[in-house]
Formats: sequence, structure tokens, C-alpha cells
Amino acid sequence: PVFRSTWILRHEDVIINKKIGSGAFGEVFLARMVDPTSEYLLDCAVKTMKQEASTDAKLRFHKEARMMRKNYKHNHVVMIFGVATLNSPLLIVMELCPNGSLISYLRKNKGKVSLLEKLRFIYETASGLSHLEKMNCVHRDVAARNCLLSAKNAIKISDFGLADDRRLVIDTFLDKLPIKWLAPEIMQEKMYSLKSDIWAYGITVWEIFADGDEPYPGLSNVQARAKIVAQDYRMKLPAEAPPEIVQIVETCWDKNPDKRKTMTVHSNALQIYYEARAPPPFP
Ligand code: ATP
Repeated sequence: PVFRSTWILRHEDVIINKKIGSGAFGEVFLARMVDPTSEYLLDCAVKTMKQEASTDAKLRFHKEARMMRKNYKHNHVVMIFGVATLNSPLLIVMELCPNGSLISYLRKNKGKVSLLEKLRFIYETASGLSHLEKMNCVHRDVAARNCLLSAKNAIKISDFGLADDRRLVIDTFLDKLPIKWLAPEIMQEKMYSLKSDIWAYGITVWEIFADGDEPYPGLSNVQARAKIVAQDYRMKLPAEAPPEIVQIVETCWDKNPDKRKTMTVHSNALQIYYEARAPPPFP
């Protein structure tokens, strides 16, 4: 038999069904794959890269797959099953998150998501990010739009299109950046870091409590940025947010990146806080 790494999948083993999303460089489809080990059919999501994409975009696509593979296997990070790269289009085959993105869930269920479920979202996002932090992976686009939901509505951090395992210099045009999620030092130092992901996590917690509203309501990107830098302005969490969560978000938004506690510290604290309110079944 010909040895074939199970990481590289064959196009004929991936059966593409309907489109469920589109991204900057390609589309995302509902699909099934023949599991190379068990030969059973598995539900999955497939990200494709257009044939006519530039070399740069293709390199980015491979890098996204590599970053997903490196971070593979955590309950709160989208798992990658493999890539199909022997033919065109290029495919990233990954775990399906049938309940869509957290941002659309919050917007669709405005006013109806319980405090307990919000606490769970906040804890699970911290847990996934703490894993990335341990793997030294800077995500660079932490936001409610990039948290997907599993069939059981568990958080799965997705979109590793910008992720890297180094501190990174800004390499995009400023107008393409998600300004309202960026830590202030990113603009000054022109660098991303694990600490700037923690800032963006704070914004994500705000989005969860604000039922998916856009951060800094009523302010443009430029106005928000100016207030943060010049006046140390910070958003207030809605009154529903417990003081313990308010305190966590405050440390995420510390002006001094070194003073922001790690995602692992936050994740542990949030796990204890959440489980005290929703005891897990006895192991
Ligand atoms: P962006 O322009 O935001 O960077 P992108 O090219 O990185 O987009 P993604 O954000 O990864 O693309 O995916 C686009 C959309 O496809 C998501 O918003 C989501 O709705 C859907 N999607 C992506 N991955 C999955 C998945 N594993 N399961 C279900 N839906 C998914």
C-alpha cells in the first residue's frame, strides 16, 4: 500500500455540500469527508481558496492551515482535520460549527441570552485563548465574529488567517484593520503580541454583554482610538455584568501590556466562577 500521511487528504474523499460562509479569499462549505483511519463519513466544514488567488494569498492559506494544525486539539479551538492540496482548489478541512458565529447568535437572541450562558461563553473563550497563549500563538483577530458555536453551543475559536507564533509587525493597511479591537500599543509599536490578544478578549467580553452591539457605540474608529489614547477612555460593561467580570475586563484593558494578566489566569478564575454557578456533572 502507498503510504499517505492522513494530514494530506484527497479531493475525492471530501464531498462538498452547500455554502455556509464566505471570507476574504475563499468560501466555506458544509461538507463530509471520508475519515482516512476509520473510513467513516464525518461532517466537516471546508474552506476553499480560489484558483485565481495570488501567490501571497496561497501562502497565507498554507500558513493558516499550519497554525490550525499546531493548535489542534483543544475543546475551545476549531479543530483541523487536514488539507487537500494535491489539486485545485486548495481545501482546509475542519470541524463543523453548525451553530454559526457567536456574533450572529448574540444579535439573533438579543435580550434573551441568560447571564449564565454569557458567563459560559466568556469562560470558554478565555479557555481557548489560554491554550493559544500556551502554544505561543498570537491570533491577531480575537472578536465575537471569530468565535464559532458547536452543535452544543460551545465556543470554538476560529479564523487563524492572521495567526502567527511570533510577535508581529503590522503588515496590513490601517483601514483594513479591526480598529475597535486593537490594543493602543499596537499603533505605537506597530506590533501585535499575546498581550494585544488579551485586550481584544476584553472587547469580546464587552460584545457578549452588549448582545453583539458594535463596540464604542456612537463613535467612529478614529474617535474611539483618539479617546482611548488621549483620555484613557474605556467602555463600561452593561449593568448586568457582575463586578468580578468588570474587574477582569479592566485588567485586559490596562494601558501597560505587561500589567494585563495572562489568559490562563483569567481562564482559571472564570472556570471557578462559572462552575460555582453551574456545577459540572460529577466526573
Ligand atoms: P475574514 O474575511 O473574516 O477574515 P475568512 O476568510 O478568514 O474571513 P472565516 O472567518 O474563517 O473566513 O470564515 C467565514 C465564515 O464561514 C465564518 O464567519 C463562518 O460563518 C463560516 N465558517 C468558517 N469556519 C466554519 C466552521 N468550521 N464551521 C461552520 N462555519 C464556519
